[in-house]
Amino acid sequence: MTPTPFEALPLAAPLHRVLRELQYSVPTPIQAQAIPLLLQGRDLLGCAQTGTGKTAGFALPILHALHLQPRQVRPRSCRTLVLAPTRELAGQVGKSFATYGKHVNFRQTLVYGGVGQVPQVNAMRGGVDVLVATPGRLLDLIDQRHIDLGQVEFFVLDEVDRMLDMGFLRDVKRIVSMLPAKRQSLFFSATLAPNIVELARTILREPAHISIMPETTTAENIDQQVCFVAREDKRPLLDQLLRGQADAAQQKLTIVFSRTKHGANKLAKSLCAAGFAADAIHGNKSQAAREKALDRFKRGLTPVLVATDVAARGVDVKDVGLVVNFDLPNEPEAYVHRIGRTARAGADGRAVSFCSEDELEYLREIEKIIRMPIPRWDDHAWHIESLAERHSRGKSGGNHAPRPPSNGGGRGGGGGQRRNFGGNRRRSAAAR
Ligand code: AMP
Repeated sequence: MTPTPFEALPLAAPLHRVLRELQYSVPTPIQAQAIPLLLQGRDLLGCAQTGTGKTAGFALPILHALHLQPRQVRPRSCRTLVLAPTRELAGQVGKSFATYGKHVNFRQTLVYGGVGQVPQVNAMRGGVDVLVATPGRLLDLIDQRHIDLGQVEFFVLDEVDRMLDMGFLRDVKRIVSMLPAKRQSLFFSATLAPNIVELARTILREPAHISIMPETTTAENIDQQVCFVAREDKRPLLDQLLRGQADAAQQKLTIVFSRTKHGANKLAKSLCAAGFAADAIHGNKSQAAREKALDRFKRGLTPVLVATDVAARGVDVKDVGLVVNFDLPNEPEAYVHRIGRTARAGADGRAVSFCSEDELEYLREIEKIIRMPIPRWDDHAWHIESLAERHSRGKSGGNHAPRPPSNGGGRGGGGGQRRNFGGNRRRSAAAR
């Protein structure tokens, strides 16, 4: 299925412009579902985690409305209120609004605890279009009459599950009680436990429901392996893997992930020189060049695609049989996203990650969030046992299942280990 491009969504011109500048071509699943509903003015109950693109999913339609209906905001008031559980998340959301609203004329501010309130009070004095706040400080400022919620048109509750874990239920209810009845409300949570659904019922009116299964669930069909290898040996190891792939009875497509744009280019070039039909996609390539590369990849004309994380986000290709993490991502969530490029639509897939000495910490972080050790593949010429041992020793005391036996280089090394990733995973936004 070809994903709908952003151009097909009826967003205002300044938003299309920024999406082009950001080189976002394809909406993520939550964006594709949420944006049309929100543009119609519907309330929304979204079950989705951070990393799914949900911030743009709500920020774009809100900015669209602010752009089309500019309005005078009363002193100390706001047209949009986004409630976030932590100061870090509030900061991220504020940043996203600033990014996506770069060409929209709007004012926003952040209100959170742990810092002096005076600048926040001053910022609210003239009123803002978007206020992103944590519940405690928001209520403080409301109680001191520095903020008035009587003009809110859009209300977003982000990461509600965390909000409740942190004991904000009463605060949230108080805040909701101060909002005008006529408003559009959006409610996002990574889980929908009964108490969360109950809360949603009291806030939303005939909401549309969207549930984005975390990428992690597809990982059940993926054979994951890690190779401990010196940085300079990654290249010959990749050749070996690609040759095996090319010899397979039914040739499948391969995506090789590189951390940098420059690295992606270099790697694609050297693969071509070694006789593999490869191409690179990354953020420095024009949209047209990326689409062309992707199209040739899909048709199997260049069965090896070297990609950076951002460029690979919209890649939804059925026949990707192998994902290689030539570099480990420094953001552990990206690992889940990357390996999710294979095993699409119920197919099986393999994901091989190369880990050199400088990447041990990244591997540790990844295994922490996927809550399992990635099975080792050490039956190749470039294996470094001392690195593997360092990794095993470095793991934090006993949280991991014992290492599975080496599987002789074939597929299925992790058979018994494969497991659904932690759907309830929660990480502090601060840790990202
Ligand atoms: P979020 O889940 O909102 O925290 O977004 C996760 C990351 O995905 C952010 O770094 C966004 O910049 C990026 N992102 C969101 N939507 C898209 C898209 N349609 N295409 C490419 N990147 C995106």
